[in-house]
Amino acid sequence: MKEKRNRILIADADRALHQKIKSGKSSSYQFESAYTGFSCWEKIELFDPDLIIIDLMLPQIHGMEILRKIKSSPRTQHIGVILASTCPSTQNYHSALMNHVDYFLEKPFALTQLSSLIHRYFKGDLSPDPFAGISSQVLEGSHCYVPKKHVTSTYLKFWGTRGSNPVSGADYIRFGGNTACLEVRDGNDLVIFDAGTGIRPFGNQLNEKPPKDIHLVLSHFHFDHLSGFPFFAPIYNPDCHIHIWTPIGFEKTAREIFTEMLTYAFFPVRLEDIQATLTFKDIHEGVPFRIGNIEINSHYAFHPGATLCFKINCHNNVFGYATDNELFMGYHGNPNTLSLKHPLTRPFHSLIEFFEDCDFLIHEAQYAPAEYQSKVGWGHSSICNAAVLMKLAKITDWIITHHDPKHTDMDLLKKIQLQYDILDDMKLDCRVRMAFDFLTVPLINTQKR
Ligand SMILES: [Zn+2]
Ligand SMILES: [Zn+2]
Repeated sequence: MKEKRNRILIADADRALHQKIKSGKSSSYQFESAYTGFSCWEKIELFDPDLIIIDLMLPQIHGMEILRKIKSSPRTQHIGVILASTCPSTQNYHSALMNHVDYFLEKPFALTQLSSLIHRYFKGDLSPDPFAGISSQVLEGSHCYVPKKHVTSTYLKFWGTRGSNPVSGADYIRFGGNTACLEVRDGNDLVIFDAGTGIRPFGNQLNEKPPKDIHLVLSHFHFDHLSGFPFFAPIYNPDCHIHIWTPIGFEKTAREIFTEMLTYAFFPVRLEDIQATLTFKDIHEGVPFRIGNIEINSHYAFHPGATLCFKINCHNNVFGYATDNELFMGYHGNPNTLSLKHPLTRPFHSLIEFFEDCDFLIHEAQYAPAEYQSKVGWGHSSICNAAVLMKLAKITDWIITHHDPKHTDMDLLKKIQLQYDILDDMKLDCRVRMAFDFLTVPLINTQKR
């Protein structure tokens, strides 16, 4: 007499899976296949299976619905159901349990695992395992993608992007509140532009492993570019040599200014008590100087006192840095009107030419046009007038820094839109970014190297 074999229905759209299961050494079972939800129902009627292995995402009728119907009908509830899923979420697992599944099987599974489950089912000791989440098989059989580490050693990083005065609070989370400080780095060569309050967190980070030589370049001596210096940790490190490059020609020498700033009246540490070696160096306007591969040139800015703008060339990446620069003083009109021929632009021809070969320009735009009405002569530009510089110097990439302390995050976001509107009106194809504290810009241009 022929032995009765247990009947197993496989309901899964994956035809290769059917072949794989059927080709296993399971001759004690009789298999039938269904590839869709409708055919699964037909085969339940015709084949009368003892056990069904259903894919959760069975075409036409979801596997959970078939499970629910099987287990809720007195006619079919005796049929065992193994629900297989490539989406082993806790919701699917719990839903399957509520619908009385016999086993919740995570895909992909090994044939040996399935054979064991089938065997256990027919022995009468199959019950769902606790939810395992992502299949341990998957984790063991694969690996998490980890990209090759690439650490750029040539970059610039903004440590302070605020002008005039540092700010803090909930309204300044997005762009930050530290005053001017920019790190320009090429391997071990380090140049810091300005010593605003942003230099304090930078110094704290740097002090874990400071380079022996640190070059600090000041655009001018206004508080927002200097007040972080006493809090710059490497000045208390006797192994550090700090070269302080400053403009010349305004009231006092750099050494005199630093000596007066570091008196007991203002700060508990005097200049002569600083442990690092300090060397003061003059910047002669228009005379380039070099620190490793970082070449720095300067041009006078339109700002009270001897103030400089800079142009930096690092491995042929050329960019400008101008934090305090009042362009086209007193002009409030349509920016389209200003051209190189306009008499108001004549004093700026040399500066325009200076920036012409820049790949990108970091330049302030502290005031909205309406604000500039009452700020003429304060040494800062309106957005419109700064945009004119971009046009005349043919700059196609502009990073705005030295934000007004009155401008909250919301104001600066509105200002970006205003910036776009102005550039659109000028038909100027120029990318604009608003700098924020910790913004890092890699300086990698392998084609140029
Ligand atoms: Zn400033
Ligand atoms: Zn200033």
